[in-house]
Amino acid sequence: MENKPTHFDFLIIGQGIAGSTLALTLIKAGHSVCVIDKPSLSTCSSVAAGIWNPVVFKRLVKSWKADEVLPYLVQFYEHFESQFKCSLITKRQILKPFSETQESELWLKKSKVENHYLQQTISSQYQLSSTQILNSYAIVLEAGNLNVTEFLNQTKLYLLAKFSYIEDLFSHDDVTHTSLQVSYKHISANHLIFCEGHLVSKNSFFDWIPTKPAKGEVITIACDDLNLDLNILNKGIFILPLGNSIYKVGATYEWKNLTDHPTPEGLIELEEKLRMLITSPFTVINHEAGIRPSVIDRRPVIGKHHTFKNIHVFNGFGTKAVMLAPYYANQFVNQFQQKENLDDEVNVTRFYKSI
Ligand SMILES: Cc1cc2nc3c(=O)[nH]c(=O)nc-3n(C[C@H](O)[C@H](O)[C@H](O)COP(=O)(O)OP(=O)(O)OC[C@H]3O[C@@H](n4cnc5c(N)ncnc54)[C@H](O)[C@@H]3O)c2cc1C
Repeated sequence: MENKPTHFDFLIIGQGIAGSTLALTLIKAGHSVCVIDKPSLSTCSSVAAGIWNPVVFKRLVKSWKADEVLPYLVQFYEHFESQFKCSLITKRQILKPFSETQESELWLKKSKVENHYLQQTISSQYQLSSTQILNSYAIVLEAGNLNVTEFLNQTKLYLLAKFSYIEDLFSHDDVTHTSLQVSYKHISANHLIFCEGHLVSKNSFFDWIPTKPAKGEVITIACDDLNLDLNILNKGIFILPLGNSIYKVGATYEWKNLTDHPTPEGLIELEEKLRMLITSPFTVINHEAGIRPSVIDRRPVIGKHHTFKNIHVFNGFGTKAVMLAPYYANQFVNQFQQKENLDDEVNVTRFYKSI
């Protein structure tokens, strides 16, 4: 019988997209890791659609860091697809329908000068359903989605098999630490990393980070008549095909009433927007909500505690954890091997002055 380890290089709190990605990256780099998570505390990763989109639709510019993070994210998830022997990502195009000529003209202009993720043609005659044709639309290239549920489940199974996962509520009051070691109950580690999503606001080590959490709601619908097998449709909301005529539709943004519970208002908003986009009848089969861990300057927040240098935060992925977390997990790990420094834009040091 194998002895369960009690000392690790890294102790990670939280197994959402951030904690999972970081744990896998650390293990891949040869470090020992233990993850403590109580999944029911935050539903954010489990409700996420998992889409990556290299374009900001409002201005048709590239999404922040798209050129750097895109190749990295594909490589990262494909590596774990082959390690876990399962499918995690689907590369897709995003269809963007236009209602006005100015929109398509702006698209063409941007696609030619500054944004190669925008296909340089405007198309017509996309048969969206038996009765609906998109007369003017264009395509975002190099988008896709992660099957987040599968990613979280596979990561958990992998960690469990290594005796590296504990399902428990982590209590910050029970941490003791020296400059060399952090201890928590029967576990010790060289470093402690918090990946608690929006619950970082309740973390006594990092509650000074200026967060701006945003609640989001999504629905899952059944719609036999839609013809969107591979593509994502996006106009105000996204419609992501999950297979077998099932689609995920979202999302809302709300900065008040921050709970993980879906609301009647959220449902009405999504149904109304959906009816403006598609004419096919649909049935809502699920309705979920989560709280996105956003920071006031809308960048991730990563790095060391201002006093305790072996206590870290890896958080603030807002609406873009699928795209950004693999790249920044790699950067986080590289700093321990003196290969790379954290980008100033994401480094938690930018908030030290507010403590
Ligand atoms: C409706 C919606 C749709 C979205 N769609 C997308 C999308 O398409 N693409 C995309 O990239 N992003 C999307 N996002 C954003 C994405 O979900 C987040 O960026 C991401 O989930 C954040 O992951 P995280 O690991 O930082 O936090 P979380 O998912 O919140 O994970 C934190 C984990 O830590 C645990 N935890 C916290 N405190 C403790 C404690 N004290 N003890 C034990 N465990 C603890 C929590 O229970 C949870 O398991 C969406 C978000 C929402 C709400």
